Amino acid sequence: MTLTVLLLIIIAVVVVLGTGIGLVIGRGRKTLPPPADLDRLTEEVIEHPEHPDPHLEDEASPAPEPATSVDTIERPEAPQGRLVRLRARLARSQGSLGKGLLSVLSRSTLDDDAWEELEDTLLAADVGVTATDELVANLKTRVRVEGIDDPERAKAALRDELVGLIGPSLDRTLNSTGTGGLPGVVLVVGVNGTGKTTTVGRLARVLVAEDKSVVLGAADTFRAAAADQLQTWGERVGVQTVRGPEGGDPASVGFETVQRGIAEGTDVVLVDTAGRLHTKSGLMDELGKVKRVIEKQAPVTEVLLVIDATTGQNGLTQARVFGEVVDVTGIVLTKLDGTAKGGIVIAVQRELGVPVKFIGLGEGADDLAPFDAEEFVDALLA
Ligand code: GDP
Repeated sequence: MTLTVLLLIIIAVVVVLGTGIGLVIGRGRKTLPPPADLDRLTEEVIEHPEHPDPHLEDEASPAPEPATSVDTIERPEAPQGRLVRLRARLARSQGSLGKGLLSVLSRSTLDDDAWEELEDTLLAADVGVTATDELVANLKTRVRVEGIDDPERAKAALRDELVGLIGPSLDRTLNSTGTGGLPGVVLVVGVNGTGKTTTVGRLARVLVAEDKSVVLGAADTFRAAAADQLQTWGERVGVQTVRGPEGGDPASVGFETVQRGIAEGTDVVLVDTAGRLHTKSGLMDELGKVKRVIEKQAPVTEVLLVIDATTGQNGLTQARVFGEVVDVTGIVLTKLDGTAKGGIVIAVQRELGVPVKFIGLGEGADDLAPFDAEEFVDALLA
């Protein structure tokens, strides 16, 4: 009897200790973002009627966790090869587009109906009218001139044309190298909810994986949650975040971040900005001021515009507005995993005349891949 009681006590102690140890280990491995923060400000420069601000989605969710200190510094995945890992995801999301295109080309005769169907498929994938017309015209000519009459050759010709439209030789490297001993400065802009803060966090990981030192600037001072979110991203990879008071001047956060970067001899300064401004002139004033104030200390080497691939035409309107107010030098297309309309890569590059440099293919910390035209098309037509 007493032996049984003793045994039960020992078992209870082991279970309690085990749970405690499990919890401690669990904390060390805790994966933080994807963040679900809850900003309730509603003013945006461009509305998303079909894609409401994700920060507003769940009114009942608890308040965002404040930035916590992260126990273990992670070693992020090196950017080379990320698209290879994410290729299946890209192929899965773009499967219907690829299949649609290939099924037309596999017909025994490419008559007017077939060409029309090809055109419709491209338009439905947000490729845009002019690019679609161009692609179909070129492909038609090749089929005729080269006497293409089998599906494999037609597929190869389509691959060439798609790669050509996307621009295989555009420079897609992130301009993150400063000159004269100054840090490179990357400004990340875009409408609220597109994945801006996530992108800054993921870019920090890309740079850390390349052994670069980084400092982050939380110039989205409208939302304390955005700064917390950014700080958490930074802490995961041992990178500092400069932040200002809530509602403070975004330009002064930008200034201080660059100042810190210069003082500490940091390789790259990444600045997150606010994307929630009522009017175009408000947007222009603020982004213009952030850039001007930063440039008192060091030139901005890259302005990345973040576009949510699932927003279609709305994303293109955003591209136009931002393109008018700030000198965008590269595009980050997020959430490509959530849409079969990969043609937006082509449309948005044409709209702005600047290359897509990164694509987001999931909510994971390393689900941001450097964009490559050939790999993209191959995944599409896989
Ligand atoms: P911000 O308001 O522009 O700073 O947007 P956030 O960075 O807070 O991101 C908004 C939401 O989009 C978050 O839930 C992110 O996890 C999500 N998100 C960002 N990039 C991607 C992506 O490539 N794929 C998917 N599926 N979700 C993404």
